[in-house]
Amino acid sequence: MDKPAIILVDMLNDFVTGTLKIERGKTVIAPLQRLVTAARLNDVPVIYSNDAHYPQDVEVTRKWGNHAIKGTKGAEVIPELKPEEGKDYIVEKRTYSGFYETGLDPLLRSLYKGEGAKTVVIGGLHTHMCVRHTAADAFFRGYHIVIAQDGVEAFTKEDQDHGLKYLENVYNAKIMMVNDIIKEIVK
Ligand code: ZN
Repeated sequence: MDKPAIILVDMLNDFVTGTLKIERGKTVIAPLQRLVTAARLNDVPVIYSNDAHYPQDVEVTRKWGNHAIKGTKGAEVIPELKPEEGKDYIVEKRTYSGFYETGLDPLLRSLYKGEGAKTVVIGGLHTHMCVRHTAADAFFRGYHIVIAQDGVEAFTKEDQDHGLKYLENVYNAKIMMVNDIIKEIVK
């Protein structure tokens, strides 16, 4: 895997235990814990792509209501996946894509001593929405895309299955189990 960076999308209290929680969301926690642990041990950068909304954001006013409001408990990463201070990166976003008007792209380009990350390994919530839009923007910018199959989830099984198919068909994403991703990033 060429110069990977892990991107964890919206693993926040509001999506796992709060206002927009889904039971299916909990299943990704253990695999993602294994993934970030292995990444940190092997100097693979871990980036948290986190909703941090203002109440006037379109996503809040027109679609989902209050969720992950900047500065609230709901907008914090779940305790099980707490970022490692001084090592991991946190990039806030205000809509589905982790790239849209954020510093994610310049961050990715600055990694690996300025050579830039080449592959984004995406996990988190939800497969058919924020993961999909983040993958789209990664594709437009020329990154290779790996999706952690057991590290992403969606509202329903249909959303999950269709979401994964779409990522594979449209962005040429490689769909891999976390254990197989770990095998490739361990040096
Ligand atoms: Zn949001």
